[in-house]
Amino acid sequence: MKSGFGVRRSAFAVLVLLVLGSRFSWFSVPGSTVAAENQNQNQNQNQNQNQNQNLKNQNPERRTPNAEPGSVRVGFLRADGSYAITEIPLETYVARVVAGEAARDSRPAALEALAITVRTFARANRARHRADGFDLCDQTHCQVVRAATAATERAAAATDGQLLLHGGAPATVYYSASCGGHTSAPSEVWPGHEDLPYLPSKRDDACERTPEWDVELRANDLVRALRAAGFRGSLHAIHVTSHTPSGRVARLRLDGMDPDQISGQDLRVAVGRTVGWQYIKSTDFDLRTHGDLYRFSGHGSGHGVGLCVIGSTRLAERGQSAAQILARYFPGLAIANESVRTPAATPTAAARRPLPASPPTAARATPSNDVVVSLPDEDEGDRSVIHREIVRARDELARALRLPPPSRVVVRFHATTDDYERDTGRAWFTSGAIIGGELHLLPLATLRDRGVLERTVRHEIVHLMADSTLAGRPAWVKEGAAIYFAGAPSIAGDVQRPPFKPDPRASCPTDNELLRPVSAGALANAYARARTCFAKQLAAGKAWRDVR
Ligand SMILES: [Zn+2]
Ligand SMILES: [Zn+2]
Ligand SMILES: [Zn+2]
Repeated sequence: MKSGFGVRRSAFAVLVLLVLGSRFSWFSVPGSTVAAENQNQNQNQNQNQNQNQNLKNQNPERRTPNAEPGSVRVGFLRADGSYAITEIPLETYVARVVAGEAARDSRPAALEALAITVRTFARANRARHRADGFDLCDQTHCQVVRAATAATERAAAATDGQLLLHGGAPATVYYSASCGGHTSAPSEVWPGHEDLPYLPSKRDDACERTPEWDVELRANDLVRALRAAGFRGSLHAIHVTSHTPSGRVARLRLDGMDPDQISGQDLRVAVGRTVGWQYIKSTDFDLRTHGDLYRFSGHGSGHGVGLCVIGSTRLAERGQSAAQILARYFPGLAIANESVRTPAATPTAAARRPLPASPPTAARATPSNDVVVSLPDEDEGDRSVIHREIVRARDELARALRLPPPSRVVVRFHATTDDYERDTGRAWFTSGAIIGGELHLLPLATLRDRGVLERTVRHEIVHLMADSTLAGRPAWVKEGAAIYFAGAPSIAGDVQRPPFKPDPRASCPTDNELLRPVSAGALANAYARARTCFAKQLAAGKAWRDVR
């Protein structure tokens, strides 16, 4: 290959050997980090391990007030895992992110297309780190921030203030290193994500199906990744069972594991987080088994939704403008300077002054009944669906319990079961815990594939709302309430806890059995008895707050 991409690819193959198990992530939810991959690589391992720790340890007192209009509060990850929060002008931020996310030696038109995309992404995703007291982090989770170059500063200046707008607001945009020849619709990657007309699944001849990749993964590494994602059992065989409309792997069957299937995206993320992102670069792959080696051969790099960074550099080389590139990857979106569309209070300042961070109505609506979701990299596309589910669960439970909804619900999904166990001090089979008033949950993929996502969220929200009312009672009262109001395990695919028929005269579980369970089975047993004890008193006519 004559492209710079091929050169880098061979360089990173060497690095892969040197940095075993590192998290090599040039294809996070938004970004490709094509230029930054090498600098990034060594830092990423620690950063990844520390990420959830940081999120938990953010000190609310140190939160800065909302950023000034036209600036972004960026959380720069420190070596010790905390964030240094710095407010920087939006246009400086754009020039620095373009340096972090663009392909090397990109033509100006490609950098300008990326600058508009990066600016739009920043404006549309300000809520992402609300739980942590800033707007966007400097990692692949949000957008990678590097030192700006003269070329990226020119790209920011040439597109000053320009955004991709949908219905007059910054659009939901994504980008990845390479779509591999066919862009994805969002729902192909994140189940339940709204499919938007300007994020189509369609053929892209610009990236010429690069990169083409071929990797082997040892069975024990694959199992290690699956176990870290919350899967149990031993892997006898793995088969692709279906494809998405754009030809990516939709689902795989995992013979011998529990749950016994996984989506292509969840597999890529599980392997990326645990073994390294250099293995399964996209879900556009073929899979063959040779003894205890799994061979993945594929195209592209990243989720493939929205702008294809490699494709955009090729289009710029063919003479296309930034507007033409954006029209191809985001068909139907208007490129406009929002500050012109909505004049600011001082007419003379209007041209230069962007709007506030978020629409004023939304900003004012949030202080009460606030739901804040924290998701690890690659799960961000699930945000809107998860947020909606949590709000619905909270409101339903508030009605069922006849309690006001909590003023703030913070829900943190962990990247791996190890992260969950370390940050909560609970075993993986507990699924969820409340620590410091915040809900901590197992990886999204596990809860979803087990069919217990909704029930687990509801269970913890009941604790959040009802535990103070039930203070001083035995643990079975609080657990019984949580299990009872969370609802029956009705969702198909719940194989984690087979239905347990307790002896009607069985004793209520002790605090120890519930709070320090020795195994998944012991906990399931204790839960079932707690529910029975709780339900018995309700059936006898007691109000839930009077159960004791
Ligand atoms: Zn982030
Ligand atoms: Zn492409
Ligand atoms: Zn509980």
